[in-house]
Amino acid sequence: MELIKIVPGNFAELNKLNGNFKKDTQRIRATIDTTEEKDFYIGKFPDLLFGMLKLFPNIRHHHCHQGEHKYPNRDFDIRHLGAPIKIVGDVIDTVHLVEHISLEIQCQVDDLDECSGLTCNYWEPENRFDVFIECNKPAIATFSCNFAFQLCTSMLNGTKNDFHIDEVIKMARAIEKSGEYSLHVLARLLKWSKKKTMGNLKLLEQFNFPLPWMRTAA
Ligand SMILES: [Zn+2]
Ligand SMILES: [Zn+2]
Repeated sequence: MELIKIVPGNFAELNKLNGNFKKDTQRIRATIDTTEEKDFYIGKFPDLLFGMLKLFPNIRHHHCHQGEHKYPNRDFDIRHLGAPIKIVGDVIDTVHLVEHISLEIQCQVDDLDECSGLTCNYWEPENRFDVFIECNKPAIATFSCNFAFQLCTSMLNGTKNDFHIDEVIKMARAIEKSGEYSLHVLARLLKWSKKKTMGNLKLLEQFNFPLPWMRTAA
């Protein structure tokens, strides 16, 4: 998969597509291309799903409204399926999982009770998808989506991440809650060594977490 771009906005058309989006909230739109053949994603999806459920057990409690409304989701009627996340048996399942992991990370970092998402497949090009994430802070949603994307692609490709997911989330959450960016203060808050704190701060930077010394890319 390739993450093409993430843009913030309201995307008013979403109000029609998913009644769960609160009307005036902000959203981000992440455009993702799949880069492998269909069989690759379909074959890997069960392991990906179970792997992610292990990392983010709370995904089981997500309410998924994907497919309850009429929108260009190709030719599937998935309303009869009873999984916590709607599964259609196609490439969109993988991208849709990125959506749910983004939502989950965002909820953990920002203490959001309810946030909705939606994954749409383009008619043309067929391998392009838009993932919409409802948010309070587009920058936090963008980080959550970048991080979720990295976790999914590394699991799909069988590459190991040289970081601890829970530490990255814990650090993001600590910064959000405290408003502190100083290495010393954060290390004390988290009861971590400076080295560990620095390592995780660098990771946040890598995944575009909003840090005051970073300029947001246009
Ligand atoms: Zn869903
Ligand atoms: Zn949520």
